[in-house]
Amino acid sequence: MELTHIRNFSIIAHIDHGKSTLADQIMAVTQTVSARQLSDQLLDDLTVEKNHGVTVKARTARNLYQADDGHVYELNLIDTPGHVDFNYEVEKSLAASDGAILLVDATQGVQAQTVANLRLAEQAGLVILPVINKIDSVNAQIAATEKQIRQLNPELAQAPILQISAKTGQGVPEVLEAIVHYLPAPQGQVQAPLKALIFDSVYDPFKGVIVNLRLFDGQLQQNDQLQLMASQKTFHVHELGILTPDRTPTTTLKAGDVGYLITGIKDPQQVRVGDTITSVNHPTAQPFPGYQPPKPTVFTGLYPVKDYKTLKEALQKLTLNDPSFQISPETSDALGPGFRGGFLGIFHLQIIKERLLNEFGVEVLTTVPNVTYHVHLAEAADPKQFLTVNNPVRFPDFSQINYVTEPILRATIVTPENTVNNVMKWTEHYKGVLMDIQNQGQLIKLIYKIPLSELDYNFFSRLKSTSHGYASLSTKFLDYEPADVVRLDVRVNYSRVDALTFIIHRPDAPQLTQKLVTKLKYTIPRRLYPMPVQAVVEGKVLARVDVPPLRKNAAANNEKRSISKKQALLRRQNLNKRQAAHNDIELPQEVFNAILDLE
Ligand code: GDP
Ligand code: MG
Repeated sequence: MELTHIRNFSIIAHIDHGKSTLADQIMAVTQTVSARQLSDQLLDDLTVEKNHGVTVKARTARNLYQADDGHVYELNLIDTPGHVDFNYEVEKSLAASDGAILLVDATQGVQAQTVANLRLAEQAGLVILPVINKIDSVNAQIAATEKQIRQLNPELAQAPILQISAKTGQGVPEVLEAIVHYLPAPQGQVQAPLKALIFDSVYDPFKGVIVNLRLFDGQLQQNDQLQLMASQKTFHVHELGILTPDRTPTTTLKAGDVGYLITGIKDPQQVRVGDTITSVNHPTAQPFPGYQPPKPTVFTGLYPVKDYKTLKEALQKLTLNDPSFQISPETSDALGPGFRGGFLGIFHLQIIKERLLNEFGVEVLTTVPNVTYHVHLAEAADPKQFLTVNNPVRFPDFSQINYVTEPILRATIVTPENTVNNVMKWTEHYKGVLMDIQNQGQLIKLIYKIPLSELDYNFFSRLKSTSHGYASLSTKFLDYEPADVVRLDVRVNYSRVDALTFIIHRPDAPQLTQKLVTKLKYTIPRRLYPMPVQAVVEGKVLARVDVPPLRKNAAANNEKRSISKKQALLRRQNLNKRQAAHNDIELPQEVFNAILDLE
């Protein structure tokens, strides 16, 4: 296909604004896939995505479209994930595109992720085609939505804005025409040395690493000798082809094309998304500026519910498939051998947990998540030096600490006017500091500074419930700032349980420790003897309860037993108490879930 007849584009949108529905419509109109195949929402084919309704892994499909001018165009749709935790994946997809459809739901208007994704597309230098969706809905506010879009940037103030219903298909043919006429064709030289960008990769145990790539210059054939420029790894092409959206082998790929490549490389670490593929004999002079996977921000212990080996294998496979998920081995006295997992955010953690169960049948126990703290020690030779702590167990004793800093985010919340008071009340409850407030029609935009550690499930569900589901949130890392945080240890039977160590904000300590021990009282599995549970901060016991014993005291007076029986029971109970000193308490997932519920 000639370059002038190719368009490589993405759809960017806030979650639920209809991206998957529009992608399906485009494939239906161009007959890329049959109606029956479509019923399964092809582009979101991971089970997790169906449960959450969000796209986790990007999917890509080539559509052939005969335009009104009589020519057949190749429209390569590069699907992007739709969640706040997955900006990295969006960036990769955008880097492989020349244009983007900015899809906005007419019943909701411009939302936080609309803006966040638009900014990424602007940075990637894409031409933006704005499209208003859901015009069939009785709640559609088309004029107001159009006004919001026009205010987003100077180009959009001028751009044609299409109005469609991705659900009924109304206006979708016009979208295809606009893609052809409004979005740019790729540029590139087929004769130049090969220069291709890896924007996605999967690992296949038999075929090795399979990459999705966009060719900017040159061409590719079976058996070509190629090189990955960052890792310096060389390989030859086992198979190449296009995505329809299934992998369909072809004989060549040329500048401007989007397709896949089977590398045969068995070590996934060698193949990085964002790396440049070139030819061994005629390498390109200029690789793409490499972009690194973002660093994990949220950490948690991952421990086997059944066996360690199966968990380890499943986790390793997931880290290959998702470069932003990281693991390192750790061992807990209470839970045995396991891993510390690093995640992009709290939903990323949730999704990894579900993928473990759905794709590998592996149940995992997760401890309470925490962020990375920078601990400046009192004795430090260089005051700028600090200890990086992402496991609470490694948090030094308070006597050694000078001060601690924690990650602070800039959070943008967009919410309807009538919910602003409640949203503000709760965001401030979660230590948000209001920086700016802007009026956008019926929507109010609130800008906060907020500690990353506060953005847990409770915050998200509060935000949703107080705004009746309308508030939307996007976040950006700001800086590390001094934080008044302390280590909270839990002692059961007077000995510390390492898996129950947390870092908390000092002002929360009195209330939180009280609630914590109460929760533990009802979730720690009972034993034959009472177990004292203490919450300790900086050497002081701030709260205490006793987990009641499973049965009554054998020696209690009202038990109708012979003296010798009672004595025998007492001996056994004493034995149990001695065992308790070993502290072999059980910590089922319910214990950690109960702690997550604390506010
Ligand atoms: P995504 O999260 O952006 O991929 O959104 P989806 O495509 O999954 O759509 C979210 C919800 O909006 C689904 O329930 C769709 O059926 C619905 N939806 C999508 N497009 C339209 C539309 O044009 N009109 C109406 N009424 N509903 C739509
Ligand atoms: Mg979707």
